[in-house]
Amino acid sequence: MVVQTERDEITWYECEECGLLFDDEDDANKHEEHCDAEEPSYLQ
Ligand SMILES: [Zn+2]
Repeated sequence: MVVQTERDEITWYECEECGLLFDDEDDANKHEEHCDAEEPSYLQ
């Protein structure tokens, strides 16, 4: 899931799975679709 966060008056979009920050919401959403950070939780 992508969460919106504000830092230094700039809005960032953060991937909740891996913590990556994007300055573009589309980039964040595209990343999140392919983010595999949630996989390891059940592979462990
Ligand atoms: Zn991610």
